[in-house]
Amino acid sequence: MGSSFAEAKKQMYEALEDVPMRIGVERGMTHFSQRYSAVIARSDVMELKREIAEIRRYTLTHIEELYRQALEALTSNGVGAHYAKTKEEALSIIGKIVEPGELVVKSKSLVFEEIGLRRFLESRGNEVWETDLGEFIIQLSGDKPAQMIAPALHIPRERVAQLFEKHFGRSFNPDDLQGMVAAAREFLRGKIYAADVGVTGANAISAKEGTVVTVENEGNVRMTMTIPKKHLVVSSIDKVYPTTLDCVKEALAQSYFAGYDKPTYISLTSTPSGTGDIEKVIVRPAQGSKEMHVVLVDNGRLQAARGPLAGTLKCIKCGACQLVCPVFAVDGPTWGGQTYTGAIGIVWTAITEGVDVANPLSYFCLGCNACNEVCPTGINISGLIRWLKTKRT
Ligand code: SF4
Repeated sequence: MGSSFAEAKKQMYEALEDVPMRIGVERGMTHFSQRYSAVIARSDVMELKREIAEIRRYTLTHIEELYRQALEALTSNGVGAHYAKTKEEALSIIGKIVEPGELVVKSKSLVFEEIGLRRFLESRGNEVWETDLGEFIIQLSGDKPAQMIAPALHIPRERVAQLFEKHFGRSFNPDDLQGMVAAAREFLRGKIYAADVGVTGANAISAKEGTVVTVENEGNVRMTMTIPKKHLVVSSIDKVYPTTLDCVKEALAQSYFAGYDKPTYISLTSTPSGTGDIEKVIVRPAQGSKEMHVVLVDNGRLQAARGPLAGTLKCIKCGACQLVCPVFAVDGPTWGGQTYTGAIGIVWTAITEGVDVANPLSYFCLGCNACNEVCPTGINISGLIRWLKTKRT
């Protein structure tokens, strides 16, 4: 979105006329709200909400020591561990891990969008494929991701059928969701089996054990991290938790507050693959990846943790606040920066792209506080946006 208020207003008005986008967002929000109401009625989910809010208060105030501890633990696990202060540093590190020309498959992560990972790799001659279905649709459409959990939320089934027809060279019935998912599965499996590098994000990384935890429903993350010979994790310093148990709690909480009653897969990865099955001698690799690298991106987070936007770093990126927001309901992903959209996305934009970019976007917040009501970690999102409104540039 444009960086001046006039430009932002023009784009917000234009988005009101984008009927397919509004249909996609409306359908997505309706399905979310039905599932979300059932999940938050559970007492175990409410107990987990209390726990994760407490854990996030701790991680926010210990962010620096936690990420440093995680880098040490990862190194001692035989993992290439890297801290990147800026996007440019992150891309430079990744450029040394991924050889030009290698085939790369990726799972979904907003940090990849934040640093421009796919564009960077493609500019070096790497063939790159998104293995998450929503991200694959986004790759075909050329849009930015709409929402934290469902990047293609704004693209209704009719448009997905058109995009698939163009890509696969045959027609698709928009109501045959099974058929469209099967076509993507077959195509992407071929790419995963041929890939040299699998890039995944991390829901959480434990400082103590250096264990990377991911949660997903599609099964693409597990394949992406285990089948190619190199596994590269690109995540951010706010995703580090004291212990693996805390990380698993985060993964569950993210899944529940995204409206899912249970996650399909939670994966824990601490080292490249290996086996001790012959005389208990550890031999690497076995079936999974041969090399593992982790890049922890800062990009403004450490500085933010010490300032007025600190509360943002308690975010677990469940996306619930986006899906109850009346402004997001009518303007969809147009209300946001390059990567982050909707309520908390405006504040993430301030941290990762600058307060000057986020300030014009902040004026569209109605201050209804619906986001604060749903946030599992108790972030005062509307208060953070109110602060941004005072930072006119
Ligand atoms: S701000 Fe809260 S509700 Fe919104 S994505 Fe982050 S954790 Fe979820």
